[in-house]
Amino acid sequence: MDNCIFCKIIKGEIPSNKIYDDENTFAFLDISPVSRGHTLVIPKNHCSDIFDMVEDDAKAVITATKKIANAAMNGLGAQGINLLNSNRKAAGQEVFHYHMHVIPRYQDDRVKIFPVQKYKETDFKATADKIKNAF
Ligand code: 5GP
Ligand code: ZN
Repeated sequence: MDNCIFCKIIKGEIPSNKIYDDENTFAFLDISPVSRGHTLVIPKNHCSDIFDMVEDDAKAVITATKKIANAAMNGLGAQGINLLNSNRKAAGQEVFHYHMHVIPRYQDDRVKIFPVQKYKETDFKATADKIKNAF
């Protein structure tokens, strides 16, 4: 993709703080981190989001993510990791090249991810059914 910033990062046309790369994936520090060591893991093949991502790239990204999560725990002394991947505008996606956020977490770091809501009792099962019936 010619005008994709993450494709340009993979090609080295835009500088990045590279953390890891292999045959199918590339990982680099997020320029506006949620926490110290916040890393983005991307497939080298361009895809916009999880919906057009081929399964082999999904596997490669999760394999690389696991390595980076371990390295962040050991190298930065993180005590936990959040994985986050936004798909499409309604989910807050801003860069349309699939990326997994690897967010190291530190005890009492006050990072707040996912404020919660409550289901109405009747809607709880109905919601599960709607998803199950769409496979
Ligand atoms: P999204 O909101 O699409 O899930 O996340 C996009 C992420 O990419 C953001 O966290 C943002 O800080 C990061 N980002 C956007 N442009 C650049 C860039 O040029 N370099 C780096 N390293 N990160 C970027
Ligand atoms: Zn791209």
